[in-house]
Amino acid sequence: MNVLVINCGSSSLKYQVINSESEQVLAKGLCERIGIDGRLVYQPAGGEKEITDAPMPTHKEAVQMVLDALVNERTGALKSLDEIEAVGHRIVHGGEKFTASTLIDDDVIAAVKECNDLAPLHNPANIIGIDACRQLMPGVPMVGVFDTAFHQTMPKEAYMYGIPYEYYDKYKVRKYGFHGTSHSFVSKRAAEIVGRDYSQLKTIVCHLGNGASICAVENGKSVDTSMGLSPLEGLIMGTRSGDIDPSAMEFIASKEGLDMAGIMNILNKKSGVEGVSGVSSDFRDLEAAAKEGNERAILAIDMFAYRVAKYVGSYVAAMNGVDVICFTAGIGENTGFIREKVCSRLGYLGITLDEEANTARGEEKLISTPDSKVKVYIIPTNEELAIARETVSLVK
Ligand code: AMP
Repeated sequence: MNVLVINCGSSSLKYQVINSESEQVLAKGLCERIGIDGRLVYQPAGGEKEITDAPMPTHKEAVQMVLDALVNERTGALKSLDEIEAVGHRIVHGGEKFTASTLIDDDVIAAVKECNDLAPLHNPANIIGIDACRQLMPGVPMVGVFDTAFHQTMPKEAYMYGIPYEYYDKYKVRKYGFHGTSHSFVSKRAAEIVGRDYSQLKTIVCHLGNGASICAVENGKSVDTSMGLSPLEGLIMGTRSGDIDPSAMEFIASKEGLDMAGIMNILNKKSGVEGVSGVSSDFRDLEAAAKEGNERAILAIDMFAYRVAKYVGSYVAAMNGVDVICFTAGIGENTGFIREKVCSRLGYLGITLDEEANTARGEEKLISTPDSKVKVYIIPTNEELAIARETVSLVK
């Protein structure tokens, strides 16, 4: 079965066509600058990347251009659109309503809209993408795969905030967690690699990308994760602060004359390793600056790794142990010095890193020594493949 995987942002749309039997990507790309001017990037398997500038006033034109590119006579990966048998949509926030992926119908769309308040930047864009696909591919089954669903197994003591209970009752204010598709994919793969039953394994997944989160997966279930009601909580990220005393922001707001929107802008877009270093949110730039002796870049890197190690320790406590620790996403897969800095703080768990193995980039690899009590792996994430698998399992 060929599955079109769609990941819509407010002005962008990423897509892949995946054959579910071979799990090969037949074509992939993205539409950018939707609503501004419009650009399609299209790449068939084994072919050259093509870039086409064309007006995309809405996501509907963007989806239409993707479909046209997929069946283009010269470079199209498909002969006809009938070859797309299902569409899998990434949806960011499923609130408490969605504990698993689901076939999309009108009721599901209405329920996703009810979660819009919880993810005002992301969910409306996801719905626009779904609407565009339903209009252009009527009759093709569509599946929604939620970033939050995997974490719906967290126990209440883990997901509640220490604020008046009425805010949970009235507005469902609580920890939800994100990157669930990635945490689920990587933790399942870890169980396969170590040859253990997923339902009897304690895994900590460190998804370290521009957005970063950690998840404790006990016996196949997420029992805690570092992001919260929104993706702002937890680790120090590219431009997001992660955990902070809210009073610090009230103090800054009063000194700088900022309102809530100004404060949220600082926490989401001006903070993290970029805000601390003043250099960049990209770890490749930070590494280069650190090598030149830039003290704030060195500090940002150390703060990032320290926070990761602190969360790992807290999740060992949450699960009363850990069998496997996995590093994934851009930084987790590619940046050995971060993995090394994190693991150097985890010696008390009996972890020893294999320095040679830890030079690996972007490949599945055991990076702990054979005598290490806890196994440490690099496991590349593949959220699109995970969405395609979920889609097939529901459509079949
Ligand atoms: P992500 O959000 O998962 O794409 O991760 C982006 C982060 O991964 C950036 O901070 C990059 O600097 C970092 N990174 C380091 N090496 C690489 C690489 N070879 N390819 C992609 N991202 C990388």
